[in-house]
Order: sequence, then structure tokens, then C-alpha cells
Amino acid sequence: MTPTNNETGDLPLDEFRREGHKVVDWITDYLAGNATMPVVPRIAPGDVAARLPASAPEQPESLETILGDFERIIVPGTTHWNHPGFMAYFAISASTPGILGEMLAAGLDSNAMLWKTGPAATELELRVMSWLRQAMGLPDEWFGLINDTASISTMLALAAAREAHPELRVRDEGMAGRADMPVLRVYTSEQSHSSVDKGAITLGIGQRNIVHVPVDDEFRMRADVLGELIAEDREAGMLPMAAVATLGTTSTSSVDPVAEIADVCERERVWLHVDASYAGVAAMLPEMRHHFVGMERADSLVVNPHKWLFTPVDISAMYTRRPEVLKRAFSLVPEYLITHEQDQVVNLMDYGIQLGRRFRALKLWFVMRAFGLEGLRSRLRHHCELAQRFAAAVREEPGWVVMAPVPFSLVCFRYAPSGMSDDEADAANQRILDEVNAAGDVFLSHTKLHGRFTIRLAIGNIRTEWEHIARAWELLRAATGALAA
Ligand code: PLP
Repeated sequence: MTPTNNETGDLPLDEFRREGHKVVDWITDYLAGNATMPVVPRIAPGDVAARLPASAPEQPESLETILGDFERIIVPGTTHWNHPGFMAYFAISASTPGILGEMLAAGLDSNAMLWKTGPAATELELRVMSWLRQAMGLPDEWFGLINDTASISTMLALAAAREAHPELRVRDEGMAGRADMPVLRVYTSEQSHSSVDKGAITLGIGQRNIVHVPVDDEFRMRADVLGELIAEDREAGMLPMAAVATLGTTSTSSVDPVAEIADVCERERVWLHVDASYAGVAAMLPEMRHHFVGMERADSLVVNPHKWLFTPVDISAMYTRRPEVLKRAFSLVPEYLITHEQDQVVNLMDYGIQLGRRFRALKLWFVMRAFGLEGLRSRLRHHCELAQRFAAAVREEPGWVVMAPVPFSLVCFRYAPSGMSDDEADAANQRILDEVNAAGDVFLSHTKLHGRFTIRLAIGNIRTEWEHIARAWELLRAATGALAA
């Protein structure tokens, strides 16, 4: 079959229709059957690359051949995040409405760098950000926009925090070689995500100026210590610029006391950014709201629908109550981007680094409408219930311990029978984890808590049910039997 028999070289549209139907069929079969595939592929580094030609083909290849290679090379080399047995890191899912929204976004290929170049994409982005904001109980005045990841959202927030000090003139003069530039300090807990550090490093704050505030025995930032550290730094002539509180930390999903942190930040006039990338969506549940009290006092916040809101990667919602500061940090309009209506509209390029902007709002719009807020809440609630059920099973099992509170859908635990030293238990848990993951049915990850190897089971995939968790538990317990060998 000759795939390119029209003048453009693109597929003839009747062929596109045919292949497109096949692709939807393939995705449907994948979602129906991927639970039988190993979550983590049994391959070695370089295996996929070895099966790919070193150079692009000179001649067109048929879609049939390309799709065949997708199934033969790509799928077996994929770690299946969209698999009910995926319970590592923070589990995610592309729900079917989200997949359809993503497909249509590719079809439109809208580039909302300006309102004019993407009126629907711009206005829908602002509207779905407002829907999510309301659902989470955030204040009406907050402005929200979409970035690719939480890492970028946090970096932009830190840039705004710096711009909130116009007296520094960083936008004009930069930071290097200036005797009048104070040392800028960013505070975050020992448990916060590395993206906070990376964002600050990117902005030239310097890694040594990221202050990791100690946590309490439930892995929450010590707000009293934060206050002391800020006071000490001010005394030493430094400029406390921003604090980042995490609601749902990566290792344990612990919740920093954001109201107390907000007290400190307001008193000290420090920008408060909240990283609620994973757990923020749980604020949609009335019974979970208590974890989030105080977040409405933040200057900025990030929550990722691509983590626990069933929307395909990538989509990160960034909110700020001070959009004018964010705009001051980033707006730069060259002649070729001037439009007649620029004073009447929001041009999203003004609120970050990127100019081009893909139509990410579409998939979230599909998800929020197809599930409805009730549907989303019931799924989140179900995941939290599954986590509690698993944590209870671990607590009841002799020799196993739950290592951290379980506020949401993540359980941290470890095998530590009496008579086993801490070091022996570390080695044992690593072996247990490796063995469980090698089976292919589930994928769990690990962290270290109090310096000790800890296994994490994170529930977040929309198709994860108790049977998948029970299988993980069966594998975990079975793996202890092989330890002596
Ligand atoms: N913040 C927290 C609390 C996270 O758990 C993660 C990732 O798991 C991130 C930030 C980074 O997210 P992203 O991959 O969207 O940059």
C-alpha cells in the first residue's frame, strides 16, 4: 500500500479515518487487557534503542508498518502507568474522557500563545481553572493557568516571589556582580519535593540558600522553626523570599501545617507557595478539607490534574492571588506578538516563559464534565478507603509496620519483625520490593523514612481495585518467605 498518494505527503483522509479507528480500537483493547501485561517491562537498558533504526527512513512507511512496530517495540518497552497494578511514586491515570480530549487537542493543534491565536483554548483554560478552583474551595479572586508540570509551576511561583520585591530590580539588572543584592532565601521542609530546589537553583538563588526546615514526627514542617530560621536570616542581612509548604509530600503524603506557616509568612512578608501537586484534589472532599485549611492564604499554589484527577499527563494547574506580580516577572511583548485586543483579554504567554501553549484544558474539561464533580469525588474517596483498608491489613499482620500516617491514598510500610536489626530489615525490604516488582502484576516504589528503607503503595489509577492491592499484599507476604534463602 502506498501511504502518501496525495500531494501534501500527509495521509489521505480516508486512510486517516481507517487508521484512526484502528488506533481507538487499540487503545480500547489496551485498557481492557493491559492488566495482563507486566507493569514494568522485562527489558534491559538499550533494548528498545537496539530495535530502532539509527536514522529516519528516507521513504515513507505505511501506517500499518508503523503501528506494527509500535506494538512490537514500543509497547513491550513501556512501563505501564495506565495499569491498575501501578502503585509506585504517585499513581496516575488517563481516563477515557481525558484520552478523547487529548486526541481532539492534537486534531485542532491550537496554539494559544495569545488569545487571538487560541480564543477557545484561552477562555476554556481560564474557565476550567476556575471550575477546579471552586471545587477545591480556593478563593474567587485567584487566577489560574495551566503548565506542563508542578516543577515548572513552582519555578514560576518562585520567580513571582522574587518579583514581589521590585526594589531588587532583578528583572532589569539580573543578580550577578551586584554588591547591593542581598542573599535570597527559600524555605521548604526536609520532606518537600526536589522540584522546589530545582526551581530555586534555576533562578540563581543558589542551592545553599534553600533552607530545609525540620519536620515533626509525622513528617510535617515545623512552623515554629520556620519562624526562627527566617528571623535568624533577616538578622544576618539575608532576604527571606519565599516559603514552600507541601500538602501531600512525595515520600509520605504528609501535610504541612499551612495555616501556621501562613501566619509566619504574613508576619515576615514572605511569599507563600503551596505545593499540593498530588493531594490538592482531595480538597474537593468535604471530609478532607481540614487538611487544607490555610491554603487559601497562600500567594500561589500548584495542583496537578495529571496526578490524581484522571487526566492524561501532562497538566499542572498553577494558581496565584497576585497575577499582576507573575505578569510583571514574565510579560514581554515583541512587535510581532502585538494584537489589537491585548488590553481586553488574557494572553497566557504573559504569565510564564513559554510562548507556544497546547490545548491542555480540553482534556480536563472532558474529564470534569464526563465524571461530574460527584463522580470525581467518589473516585477519590474510594482510593482513600482502599488505602485505609490496606493500611489496616498491614497493621494487623505480625512483623509489618505502617511507617507514616495515611491521610490520603498512599501507604508507607515496612517488614520489620522482632529480632531483625534495622540494617537487616533495610536489606530485606529492598529484596521484598525487588521480588514483588519482578512478578510483573504490580509496581511499588520506596523511600527512606527516619533513614530506613520503606515501601510505598500509592493508589491513584482509576482502574485500581481491592483485587490489585490484595495481589500486592499477597506478593509482599510471600516475598518474606524467600528471605532466608
Ligand atoms: N511536588 C510533589 C509533592 C510531587 O510529589 C511531585 C511529583 O511526584 C512534584 C512536585 C513534581 O511533579 P511534576 O512531575 O509535575 O513536576
